Amino acid sequence: MASQPSTSGLAHDLACKVQELERELTEARQQHAATGEILRVISATQTDVQQVFDTIIANAVKLCSAHQGAVYLYDGELVHLGAHRNYAPEIIEILRRMYPRRPQQDQVSGRAILNRAIAQIEDMRADPLYSPELTLAGAWRSQLAVPMVREGRPIGAIVIARPEAGSFSASHIELLKTFANQAVIAIENTRLFEEVQARTGQLTEALEFQTATSGILRIISSVPTEIQPVFDAIAASAAKLCGALLTGVYRFDGKLIHFVAHNNWTEEGLHTVRTAYPRPPSRDTQIAKAILERTVVEVRDFENDLEVPSQSLPLARALGYRSLLAVPMLHEGNPIGAIAVARSEAGPFSIEHVELVKTFADQAVIAIENARLFEAEQASKRELQESLEFQTASSEVLNVISRSPAQLQPVLNTIVETASRLCKADHAHVFRLQDGKYHLVAHNQTQHHIIEYLSKNPIDLDQLGSVTARAARACKTVHVPDAMQDPEYGHGPLTFSNDRTVLSVPLLREGSALGIVTVGRQTLRPFTGKEIELVESFADQAVIAIENARLFEAEQASKRELARSVEELESLGKVSQAVNSSLELDKVLPTILEHACAMSYAGGGTVYVFDKTTSEFRLAAAHNMSDDHIAMVRAQPMRLNSVVVGECATRREVVQVADLSSAAPSPLLDILLRTGVRAVLAVPLLHQAEVVGVLVVRRNQPGTFSPEVIRLVEAFAAQSAIAVENARLFGEIAQKSRELEIASQHKSQFVANMSHELRTPLAAILGYAELIQEGFYGALPEKSMDALTRIRSNGKHLLGLINTVLDIAKIESGQFALNMTEYAIESVVETVRSATESLAQNKKLALKTRVAKPLPIGLGDEQRLTQVLLNLVGNAIKFTDAGEVRVTAKSVNDHFTVSVTDTGPGIPEEHQVRIFDQFHQVDSSNTKAKGGTGLGLAIARQIVEMHGGRIWVDSTLGKGSTFQMELPVRAAAPGVGQ
Ligand code: ADP
Repeated sequence: MASQPSTSGLAHDLACKVQELERELTEARQQHAATGEILRVISATQTDVQQVFDTIIANAVKLCSAHQGAVYLYDGELVHLGAHRNYAPEIIEILRRMYPRRPQQDQVSGRAILNRAIAQIEDMRADPLYSPELTLAGAWRSQLAVPMVREGRPIGAIVIARPEAGSFSASHIELLKTFANQAVIAIENTRLFEEVQARTGQLTEALEFQTATSGILRIISSVPTEIQPVFDAIAASAAKLCGALLTGVYRFDGKLIHFVAHNNWTEEGLHTVRTAYPRPPSRDTQIAKAILERTVVEVRDFENDLEVPSQSLPLARALGYRSLLAVPMLHEGNPIGAIAVARSEAGPFSIEHVELVKTFADQAVIAIENARLFEAEQASKRELQESLEFQTASSEVLNVISRSPAQLQPVLNTIVETASRLCKADHAHVFRLQDGKYHLVAHNQTQHHIIEYLSKNPIDLDQLGSVTARAARACKTVHVPDAMQDPEYGHGPLTFSNDRTVLSVPLLREGSALGIVTVGRQTLRPFTGKEIELVESFADQAVIAIENARLFEAEQASKRELARSVEELESLGKVSQAVNSSLELDKVLPTILEHACAMSYAGGGTVYVFDKTTSEFRLAAAHNMSDDHIAMVRAQPMRLNSVVVGECATRREVVQVADLSSAAPSPLLDILLRTGVRAVLAVPLLHQAEVVGVLVVRRNQPGTFSPEVIRLVEAFAAQSAIAVENARLFGEIAQKSRELEIASQHKSQFVANMSHELRTPLAAILGYAELIQEGFYGALPEKSMDALTRIRSNGKHLLGLINTVLDIAKIESGQFALNMTEYAIESVVETVRSATESLAQNKKLALKTRVAKPLPIGLGDEQRLTQVLLNLVGNAIKFTDAGEVRVTAKSVNDHFTVSVTDTGPGIPEEHQVRIFDQFHQVDSSNTKAKGGTGLGLAIARQIVEMHGGRIWVDSTLGKGSTFQMELPVRAAAPGVGQ
């Protein structure tokens, strides 16, 4: 190919071209390999950006035919030397001195960064701005700088240098640009990687924190009552998460700070802190400061913090920490504790750590509050339980009271038992006031020797050292919480009971202490308000029980009294019944005596009746009396001078001998003593202050008769006196009646005889007068005829009077009899009408008769009935001065009703019944003036009643009277009238 110059020239050209191309190809290959290597380095070492820079600069120098090169990094302010290649040591020395520095025009890198553009120095010797120092030292003439730009901002530059002057080829510039881009990528990669790493770290920490806090929350919720595990967990977690040397948890109760939990402490350290706590908060410790000021306290370096109190440093040194964080636990703004975290290195605590410890503090507060609430709930549960127990106890006591209201002891026993049980006392007593002292009446769990002592020595009101006496004096509850601290307690004889805490509650009624309930404890344990209240309620119940028992006893007593009164009344009732039902002393007196003995608890008794005529006492009744005694009394009658009975009679008062064995001896007493009698009571039987006898009751036991018994025997004696008097009066009356009856019979007989004797001569007188008048003995002068008429009329009147008296006499002597025949009531009326017609006419009175027809035939004494009607009509005419007299007769239901009505003066009401009695007349001038015997209506009533009928009057004063009689139509044959 050389024989053809043109060809050879072409060939040469071609060869050159090929050579050129091959070189380019090699270059391209080398560049490609370089970028590939750089990318590999980038992807292999995400974190080591230095290695990337080293690789970049090595390749840049090599591929761009440069001798030296460097990578500069720009942080926005300063330019740092990132990597360099092939610089002489002295140059490196200069660069190290220069960098980091602000980007300046005296450096090609500074120009690229400031201009964000490629910068070239073709000959630095000709560049006046270029750093003279480097110009002298540097072994280069030309430099190329390509900026590294990320999102428009310069972050560095790649610089290469050549010993020769001149400009850099476009391909080298392009290559360097590629390298710059790769460096940007590498930097960005690393930044992103680191960011991711940082994020991951943060996340991990957050997760750890969260795990720790949730762990603590789990502890809180699993055991709400126990806060210690929470504090322990907090101490441990805080130590671990904050990388602390040691941690401590403290609690503040308002007065003292307590060290409650710790982590990582040495034995020595614990010993130190434990001797220091609990302590009051003062600002000399960080914990106290955090608590008092309610803020987070941080000490970054104990060695260099002037604000730290002087004593904190030695402690920090001793325990080996340099920094400390104290976070308060706040509940509703109030400090209740603190958490302290101490580290061995100095420096601030990160926000995360502060927040974490704050979270722990919050959790501690929650735990404490939880525990407090739980405890409060438990306490209120316990309180409820206690209240329930107390209530049950109270109702138990009330039950006992209501079960047996009469019995006090079971109630008091229940009270001491329940009081000592519920108040957890070592013993309980109840004392009762009797005779001014407090006697032990109930006890529980009391030692034997104390019971014995108290039983023998009731507590005096002024007894020193006795809480019981104090409560009794004060009339209020006395609580001695600590006997050792009590000035009074222990001076008295009760010291041996060894009580340390004593409570005495009085049983108050109307302001005075009926008794005392005392409970005691041998250990120092004051009684709570609740317990005191309980014992007080027991005291109230004891008062109720005592009062109940008292009322019950009173009720029983009054019941007994009532029963006794009823018995007495019954007894007296029977006695007075006996007295009223019989007049025979033989029957009445023994009854009285029997009751008197029974009611006076006497074995026997006697009633003596005093005989005035003989001045002797006659034995009238005996109850459980020995035959000896009776015989003796009968044989030797008692007189006014005899013992007991005579004495009682003469003094007219009760005499009793309470013990016969000490009385003056007498034969009668001998007998009494022999029959076992030991006491006698004699009560006089008085009638109008006069002794009519003596009642004696006897007992076989000595002893005085109580006033009640005496009163009762007096009542029986009074009954006996009545009986004796009644018997006497009855005897007298019987005697008188007998005498009277005889006298009356004599009188009636006499009157009957006399009347009969009078009627015979009168009949003769009237007969002869009639004969004379009728001229049987010849005519008489006119004057004589008048006289004869008067003789006859007066004689008839006299005969009427005699007949009336005879009738009365017959009635009284029981000889009045009816002559029963059949009769017609019309004819009776007619007879009376015709007999009285002229009388009525004389007084100008209308006499009217009205008889209903037909009337049945009656059976009775017609003549007597006519006499009755005649009397009624006669009276009517006699007492009536004007008007009329009307007679009616009818029959109703087998009875005749006959009435006589007048318009006379009328009869006052009070006389309307009595005018039917013998001799009774209305005592008025009018009726008096009319005359009469007052016997007519008495006889009329007798006749009507003997017919089985009745007679009565209705009258109005000033208007008139109506007399009516009602008769059986057929009267039964009557007996003889009385
Ligand atoms: P005498 O008429 O004889 O006194 P009586 O026994 O017939 O006795 O009557 C008793 C008394 O009753 C009379 O005295 C008179 O006071 C009163 N008396 C009887 N009938 C009447 C009468 N029709 N009007 C008023 N008073 C009368």
